[in-house]
Amino acid sequence: MSTDRADIASLPRRLDGAVHVDEAARAAAGDDFGHIVHRSPDGVVVAGSAGDIVDAIRWTAGRGGHLAAQGQRHSTFGRAQVRDGVVADMRGLRDIGPVARDRVTVGAGATWGEVLAATLREGTTPPVLPDYLGLSVGGTLVVGGVGDTSWRCGLLSDNVIAMEVVTGTGELLTCSATEHADLFDAVRAGLGQVAVITAATIRLTPAPEAVRWYHLSYPDLGTMLQDERLLARDGRFEALEGAIVPVDAGGFAFRIEAARFVTGDTPADEPLLAGLRDERALRKAMTLTYADYRDRLAALERALRANGQWFFPHPWLNTFVGDAQVERVAAEEVGRLHPATDLGEFGRIVLFPLWTRAIGSPLVRLPSQPLVFTFNLLRVPPTDDPHEADRLVRDNAAAYRRITAAGGTLFPVSALPLSPGEWRRHFGPAFPRLAAAKRRYDPGNMLTPGYPVFPPGPAA
Ligand SMILES: Cc1cc2nc3c(=O)[nH]c(=O)nc-3n(C[C@H](O)[C@H](O)[C@H](O)COP(=O)(O)OP(=O)(O)OC[C@H]3O[C@@H](n4cnc5c(N)ncnc54)[C@H](O)[C@@H]3O)c2cc1C
Repeated sequence: MSTDRADIASLPRRLDGAVHVDEAARAAAGDDFGHIVHRSPDGVVVAGSAGDIVDAIRWTAGRGGHLAAQGQRHSTFGRAQVRDGVVADMRGLRDIGPVARDRVTVGAGATWGEVLAATLREGTTPPVLPDYLGLSVGGTLVVGGVGDTSWRCGLLSDNVIAMEVVTGTGELLTCSATEHADLFDAVRAGLGQVAVITAATIRLTPAPEAVRWYHLSYPDLGTMLQDERLLARDGRFEALEGAIVPVDAGGFAFRIEAARFVTGDTPADEPLLAGLRDERALRKAMTLTYADYRDRLAALERALRANGQWFFPHPWLNTFVGDAQVERVAAEEVGRLHPATDLGEFGRIVLFPLWTRAIGSPLVRLPSQPLVFTFNLLRVPPTDDPHEADRLVRDNAAAYRRITAAGGTLFPVSALPLSPGEWRRHFGPAFPRLAAAKRRYDPGNMLTPGYPVFPPGPAA
């Protein structure tokens, strides 16, 4: 970018927020949850208004630089980072509400935990939430966003009604299915390529009072998958997830975590679990408040912060695999893993079904089968050795090749280097839609270089 930091420091005169050019702020903006890629920007604009994003984009574009929004920096591969330009810290835009019966408008920098706390006070909830509530609304809408109710309610990006965004040309626009629909469809799961989201209107449904939560254990992968298919078909639980987890003795355990949302009387367990093939002696059932259930990863976060592994590299690989291939692909990939070093004691492979008909965001890439499965390698290695992280990123690339050869697709929150040509192949038939929106809304290709979907230079 043709400027220096003193020049950036002159920006706040026009801003409602603030600008930071100090080493600490720039270094923090050059790190993320992955701790694998590090690129520091020239400065950090803490947005105080949507107008600040307009100014920051126009100012940066005028100097030939790039801009990336940062939500909670939970990317695992530098996706919110910028080397030559400016990071827009969205945490200043976190206003919520007022909460209406069926929707709420929130600042894109709010976390899902903050959104849920506000809606629960009115007895409502977003129909889909990510498992981890510490993610920002904007950071998840641009990747799609999967949760435990996605199998029937779709992704987070399928449950947004409208968005206020600033395009790469510095235009502040509102988009929805009926207003600037091309922009709406290119922002949802569009990897931040055409606009920065400043606010989003999220759909709401009545919140249950409580949750009856079951942990079911399986002797093997095939039996677990059979029950996941059964539960996706009969819909007896509102929330459905599953995982392959490393066990102390070595090897893996196979688990389904299913939840019935309860308002009024707690249901009897036996009829709810009828016909399932889990190991009955290992069944666990508990009743939680809905708020506690939603915050169920908080204890794991505390444990990982305490043992330091929260701050170690996290080379995650997230994919979708079709029902017809899932058993073979999962068995082969699990067979290649060394539990202790490739996943870690706290790591897991998240494996649960989704109906493709529930998912409508056009840029989300899924295998073309009615039922697909997440296959997510959530690696929590017990070391901060960067060579080990590099090895696991290489393993991700090899696994990704095998999974796509079997018809699988990427959930693009992964630690995986892809060239613009590979991103183009990832988007496949959806690419022309994204490319057209890029030409229209970010022709200078200045937004979100951490996802190198388009080659450097103006969008052709
Ligand atoms: C512990 C943990 C748990 C997770 N659980 C889930 C889960 O349950 N479901 C799921 O789907 N994913 C999950 N993820 C992945 C997560 O959704 C993505 O990494 C997400 O992008 C991170 O959101 P963030 O707010 O931290 O965004 P950041 O890391 O700050 O940004 C991510 C990307 O979004 C862009 N961006 C951020 N804000 C905006 C904005 N306002 N407008 C435009 N672009 C923006 C950034 O430039 C960057 O490219 C998890 C990640 C972690 C680390």
